[in-house]
Amino acid sequence: MPEIPPDEIVVAGRPRRGAGAPAATIDPATGRALATVHAASPDDVDTAARGAAHAATDPAWRDLAPHLRARLLHRIADLVEADAEALAGLQTADTGKSLAETRALALSAAGTFRYTAAALETAQDALTPSRGPYVTLSVHEPIGVVGAINPWNSPVASDAQKIAPALAGGNAVLLKPAEWTPLVSLALGRLIVRALSELDLPTGLISVLPGPGRIVGDAIVRHPLVGRIGFTGGTDTGRAIARTAAERLIPVSLELGGKSPTIVRADADLEAALSGVMFGVFSSTGQSCVAGSRLFVARELYAEFMDELVRRVRSLRVGPGTDPDTQVAPLVHHRHRDAVAAHVDSARREGARVLCGGAVPGGERYRDGAYYLPTVVDGLPNSARACQEEIFGPVLIALPYEDEDDLVRQANDTVYGLACGIWTRDHRAAWRLARRIDAGTVWINTYKQFSISTPFGGMKDSGLGREKGRDAIRSYQRQKSLYWGTSDTPLPWAT
Ligand code: NAD
Repeated sequence: MPEIPPDEIVVAGRPRRGAGAPAATIDPATGRALATVHAASPDDVDTAARGAAHAATDPAWRDLAPHLRARLLHRIADLVEADAEALAGLQTADTGKSLAETRALALSAAGTFRYTAAALETAQDALTPSRGPYVTLSVHEPIGVVGAINPWNSPVASDAQKIAPALAGGNAVLLKPAEWTPLVSLALGRLIVRALSELDLPTGLISVLPGPGRIVGDAIVRHPLVGRIGFTGGTDTGRAIARTAAERLIPVSLELGGKSPTIVRADADLEAALSGVMFGVFSSTGQSCVAGSRLFVARELYAEFMDELVRRVRSLRVGPGTDPDTQVAPLVHHRHRDAVAAHVDSARREGARVLCGGAVPGGERYRDGAYYLPTVVDGLPNSARACQEEIFGPVLIALPYEDEDDLVRQANDTVYGLACGIWTRDHRAAWRLARRIDAGTVWINTYKQFSISTPFGGMKDSGLGREKGRDAIRSYQRQKSLYWGTSDTPLPWAT
């Protein structure tokens, strides 16, 4: 059992009990209450935003040279690394994810702070070619206060992806974690407060404000002092946030849902494709925006491939995230498990064949947890609801394809465009497909691998803007052009 932190949120660097309603978070492996967290109230958001604005303009922060801001990011990385085991344990208890995965997420968060520190130290403003007697420069300045709103599936890693570039850009951050999983984001917030105090920087630069999206998230998006929103979550929520941001004319980046195609060509290395397809959709129990949830297999290979795939999926080890043998952990919450089950029932009504899974596992071990068996379904056209709607659980929908044009037509026939996987030995075919599929990320003979230096984001309804990469820092800054006159000759209107 991890150590449960006190019932405190972080308001402009100050730990205090939220003034909003209390909410219990549960351990999805057992259904037992883990902690009670009082949500932030709209007043807490206001206090946090004012404190953040004050901290952002404090000369101790505003005038800090980039290499010294980078020191802060390195210090946060040190603290996250030192606490990685505790953060992983807390996240496993709060989200249900396996310890192997939550450890990797904590270390990836530390890596994000380090990479961003390095990118910050090497970022350059441009001297632009001048067309007159003046020096022209393009510089980047902080926005001020930025909001970061995240979902429940990969807190800590997704928190770092917004907080690191926002701090690197010279801003103060209001982080809003998801209702079901506030604990690890609060723990990260406390570590950032510690790093700020150690370096004598204003602690008001960080706030962590959990609570209902429609109350706390909305208050952040509408707050007049907040000048940019980084959002990850569902497409409908993203659209609503973008609408408000449009009214306020503030920039917003949106990382949204997906229904990503994974393609197995007849010339694929079948061993690699089988494990890649399973990992691509069933790791994180399918609760991944990039889950390869639509599988397209070449018609001539379809029967053979599906037989072997289903045999292997049946042997995946389902269990609690704390068991090192577990491959498929519980879902984040019983309510989410029931929503996943309802999707599969609806697919059955649409005429789907459930090839394996499609049920809650039986037995004492699974009785109280939010478990659902890894499920493979086929027999539906790509236009069916189950092929079009994001399920966000361990459910794979398989479809055969006839030829490359048929494949591209079906794969792109979705509102989403987040990711794609291609399994083939033919590098020319891989190149053609990679360029023809609408997806922000294409994996070829691999899947769900991430590098912080590689930009990430979606096309179509999967999002707007990119996270990660060197440009992430710029996305949390405002650009300014400077003209510096060098001529002794007065401008023409001099009297
Ligand atoms: P969600 O959209 O319901 O919630 C995401 C966050 O937004 C939460 O913190 C929530 O409280 C907040 N929120 C809700 N309504 C709001 C409002 N009106 N104003 C401001 N904030 C509001 O999503 P979820 O169910 O928590 O997460 C699952 C979704 O996230 C899936 O669709 C998944 O694909 C997506 N996701 C995308 C990525 C990506 O990088 N593209 C990564 C992970 C998850």
